[in-house]
Amino acid sequence: MQRTPWVVGNWKMHGSLASNEALLGALKACQVRRTQVGVCVPAPYLAQTRSLLDGSALSFGVQDLSEHASGAYTGEVAGAMAAEFGARLAIVGHSERRALHGETSDVVARKAVAAVNAGLLPIACVGETLAQREAEETFGVVESQLRAVLDRGSELGSSLIVAYEPVWAIGTGKTATPEQAQEVHAFIRVLLRDFGREATPVLYGGSVKAANAAGIFSMPDIDGGLIGGASLVAQDFLAIIAASDAAAEV
Ligand code: PEP
Repeated sequence: MQRTPWVVGNWKMHGSLASNEALLGALKACQVRRTQVGVCVPAPYLAQTRSLLDGSALSFGVQDLSEHASGAYTGEVAGAMAAEFGARLAIVGHSERRALHGETSDVVARKAVAAVNAGLLPIACVGETLAQREAEETFGVVESQLRAVLDRGSELGSSLIVAYEPVWAIGTGKTATPEQAQEVHAFIRVLLRDFGREATPVLYGGSVKAANAAGIFSMPDIDGGLIGGASLVAQDFLAIIAASDAAAEV
């Protein structure tokens, strides 16, 4: 089954009106063939992003959203608010949210459903810590994180992207080897098949750079990447997008 390759930038808490303008200006003209490209920006920049990407093929979105539709939740951003500004994507369950904000897999699953209810495409992140990998718990951790989301079944409709992001590789410069990543992606693919989700793209994230992207994207069960640091440098992000397109042509 043909799966759509995606390359999505996660800006994390970086950016300014001036630097966003320069970055999005450089990305806007990017020529993609098969790869879908998106950027997940800090919520205050949604309006600016919509205006700068007007007329471009790039999608954009948020890095988190509330599990609630509206109400007395001070500081939270509802999916519908992001959608009103043209957002299409919502990252849920990034390891930084799990580790620093105590998000459990149940919360992440509810956020995935909230994203779908708001018309957003959730990118559900899963991945093990170094201690869990060393204890040979990688498959168990990834399975339980992913099952929490997949168990929401029809509430998700067909909208879902999965990102495998080993925590030990995020922002550390330590990338999983293509073979290490492929091993977990193949496992995720079997689980997705059990849930009838053969078409769900599975992205790899964790220190993907222009120099290692081609090797990672050449793996059969890797459908692109979720890119942190390198998505802030136009030239690097464009090279990663080109690597995804080249892999998709093969
Ligand atoms: C991320 O934040 O999702 C990520 C993969 O970061 P980096 O590419 O910087 O490791």
